[in-house]
Amino acid sequence: MSLETRRGFLVASGKLLVGTVALASMGAHASDEHEHHEHEHEHGGSGDGLSIDATAKDICATCRFWGGIRKLSDDGGKVIAQSMGWCNNPDSPNHRKLTMADHQMKKADTWTKWAVL
Ligand code: SF4
Repeated sequence: MSLETRRGFLVASGKLLVGTVALASMGAHASDEHEHHEHEHEHGGSGDGLSIDATAKDICATCRFWGGIRKLSDDGGKVIAQSMGWCNNPDSPNHRKLTMADHQMKKADTWTKWAVL
């Protein structure tokens, strides 16, 4: 094989390899998308979480120390929260632990109202 022929062969096989890798990653991408849709389906797709009365006291979702994903509903009557969050209150027995949004605070005078409410 002359040097030129060998180079041509390497270039050709290199292109083939690139083409194969591109196809493989497209395949992987397609299955990711599929999983993503399945995931959305399982959870209803709307991102709705727990809905807790905004006036509720001694509940993590309405506590200023709660580090979970939450928002106030459009009418301001509810806190919509996504399952769990960390308690950031050093006075709480749950400090630095994960609690559910609807967790009931047992220790008196530890809960403080979330500033947004
Ligand atoms: S455990 Fe108590 S102090 Fe901690 S976030 Fe929940 S309500 Fe607030």
